[in-house]
Order: sequence, then structure tokens, then C-alpha cells
Amino acid sequence: MSALPIDNKLMLDGIEIAFEPGDTILEAATRAHRYIPHLCWHPEFGAHGSCRLCTVKVNGRSAAACTTRATPGAEVQSHTDELDAGRKTLLQMLFVEGNHFCPSCEKSGNCLLQATAYEMGMEGPHFEEFYPDRPLDASHPELLLDTNRCILCGLCVRASHAEGKDVFAIGGHGLKTRLLIAGASGRLGDSGLSASDRAASICPVGAILPKRRGFAVPIGARRYDLASAAEEIEGPAVEGGAP
Ligand code: SF4
Repeated sequence: MSALPIDNKLMLDGIEIAFEPGDTILEAATRAHRYIPHLCWHPEFGAHGSCRLCTVKVNGRSAAACTTRATPGAEVQSHTDELDAGRKTLLQMLFVEGNHFCPSCEKSGNCLLQATAYEMGMEGPHFEEFYPDRPLDASHPELLLDTNRCILCGLCVRASHAEGKDVFAIGGHGLKTRLLIAGASGRLGDSGLSASDRAASICPVGAILPKRRGFAVPIGARRYDLASAAEEIEGPAVEGGAP
């Protein structure tokens, strides 16, 4: 890696970190092994800026770390009581808006929503549960789609678009915002999605799951059982981005 220009540095929670030209604050933080909570961001794809978990203070103003460019000399606060309380509230709203029954979900232990809730010290839903009854699509021979668990992060949309398929889209407004499947039937089995597509494996929660692989890895030996969401970023193994 070439030497960084001396002024490509900012202060993150009182610690000076370097960034590369074009980095967002979240990319710079991840590059420096500093964890900023996020759900809809993934280093393989462009930022979506929708979940707002990565909201930080930049020179005193609130901004999404995934869409805000790193600038020399910026003072960024990413972990204050106020910011973390806001994150916990957002997580609690996400949990009650869908059906996220972790103990019975195949994604438990591999779920970024669950892992981030642990990070933020969420101990309960706080709000009244919606208990939605959205469609469960089992029409695909290899994949299952449970939209009751979808947090509308848009990662499958971006992944499928990058693969030139555009199987997924997000439509509707407000509480009626939904994940949509391309095609006349709107069923996954009639779409062009393959189990080997990145879009089929990118889901950070248990909304898109492979069939016939339930609990192949036991609870206790799963991704976030081995390293928390923060430890994945802050550990020495990360080079240039989150997994
Ligand atoms: S299905 Fe998964 S990847 Fe797609 S928008 Fe919903 S939560 Fe995100």
C-alpha cells in the first residue's frame, strides 16, 4: 500500500485514523479496524444509507457514516451514549416490525441484526410487537424467502443488480414497503435466482435461506458465536473491509 498523504486523517472518537481518497467514514473506520454498527452496508456494494445504524456525529452534525465522505481533519464521534441509545431504539423497532424469533430461526448466530442487538445491549423489544403475517415463498427448489424477517436492507437488491438479474426490488411506502420479486408471478421459483448467486447468500438476516441445510452448524459454533460483530472488525484479520 502506498503512503497516504499526511492530511488524509480524521479523528474518530478521539483517535486519529488514516483514510484513502474516496473513503466514506464507515470505510475509513473499517480500514482502521474501528467498529461502527451497520446493517445495510456491505463492502462489496455501494452504500444504501437506509438503516441509519451507522449514524455518527461529524463536526457536531448527524450523518450516515456509510454515505458521508471522510474529510481531512474531521472530528467524528461514533460511540456516544446518545448515538448508541438511538441505535438501540432503531433495532428495537426493527425487531417488532418483523418476526424475529431468534431461538427458532436458522440464521441465529449468523444474523447481523441479532449480533448488532447484542452489541448495543438490547435486552428486549421495548415496543409492542407487530406480529406481521407476510408471505413465505417456498416456490424455489433450493431457497426459501420469509419476508417476515426482511429488514429491507436492500443488499439482495444490490447484489442481484450487480449480477445483471435484478431479481429483487423494494417497493411501496412507509409501513407498506416490501421486498418484491421480479416477474409476473412475483414468486422466487419463477425468478432467475440461483442458489449460487451472491444475492442468495448476502441476506444479513434469516429472510433468504437455503433449503435442507437447517442447523448444519450447531448453535455455539456459528459466526457471531466465534467473534462478535465488533470483534470481526476490530480483530487483526480484517484487511480493507468487513466480511
Ligand atoms: S431479503 Fe434480506 S438482503 Fe433482501 S432486503 Fe430483506 S433483509 Fe435485506
